[in-house]
Amino acid sequence: MKANQPAIGIDLGGTNVRAAVVDASGSVLSSYRQPLGAKRDPQSVLDLVCQAAHQAMAQAATPAEELVGVGIGVAAQLRGSSGMVAVAPNLGWREVPFGAMVAKDLGRSVRVVNDLEAICWGEVAFGAAHGFRDVLVVFVGTGVGGGLVLDGQLYQGASGVAAEIGHVKVFPSGRNCGCGGTDCLEAYLGGANLSRRLREEAEAGWSELMTLAKADPAAIHPGLVEQLHAQGDPRAKQLWSELAELFGTVLANSVTLLNPSALVLGGTVLSGCPRLLDLSLVVLRRQALAVALETLTIKPASLGDTAGVIGAADLARKDN
Ligand SMILES: [Zn+2]
Repeated sequence: MKANQPAIGIDLGGTNVRAAVVDASGSVLSSYRQPLGAKRDPQSVLDLVCQAAHQAMAQAATPAEELVGVGIGVAAQLRGSSGMVAVAPNLGWREVPFGAMVAKDLGRSVRVVNDLEAICWGEVAFGAAHGFRDVLVVFVGTGVGGGLVLDGQLYQGASGVAAEIGHVKVFPSGRNCGCGGTDCLEAYLGGANLSRRLREEAEAGWSELMTLAKADPAAIHPGLVEQLHAQGDPRAKQLWSELAELFGTVLANSVTLLNPSALVLGGTVLSGCPRLLDLSLVVLRRQALAVALETLTIKPASLGDTAGVIGAADLARKDN
């Protein structure tokens, strides 16, 4: 009976927290979102998370005692299923027992997963990958993240950081990544790092890019390169083909290694740069093992920005 009751899903990203009450069919009954603000210490963020959860519960007609659990997706590397946040670069946290803190505050058991794992589970349970049992989800937004479902189950790996596809190494040029390392895929392709590189290149003489940004370096983002690419700009073409080679090869190697039935792609950089995505898929199809490609379905993510709360709530429901 409990398996059919609504649960609370929370998505704690780098800039916002969203909480929602989600029913067993993946429908969002109520949703509350607020920005994190400048104070990012664990206690301040805990207060915002619990506030958001209480707001979502108040807006839903469901009595609190009928909610079966709380699931949270956090933009962080976690230690297994302990609820311990090992590293959360956007929040500046290391070794924060966030799951226990939220459980104490809300008085409920809490399932903590990585934000992309929550999105991945949402897309598999109710979205683009519904009906597929072996699924890799890759999002390219501010950062680059992945989630993995194998044989119908969320696969988290021995220490909880499986599918951290943004941090596979791609090219030894020394570009810095938010994880503290260098040369990661995210150092090249993640929206924050890519925009930084574009600003550097615009200021060093890529005049077409600077002109498109109306001479405001802060206005430079990957979508402008996409526009230049459409106009035939040679630097845009070169950059997109370089990044497509990196991204497509990582996707191809992942497909060869895992042989998933579905690859779901999403995130603001990919949705804003369809040419970059298409070029990457050409590389993927060239580089992946042919027999693995025969059974692969490639789809765009379909749940939008509620995938995380939907997936987190469903994972919490499964625990009960
Ligand atoms: Zn990294």
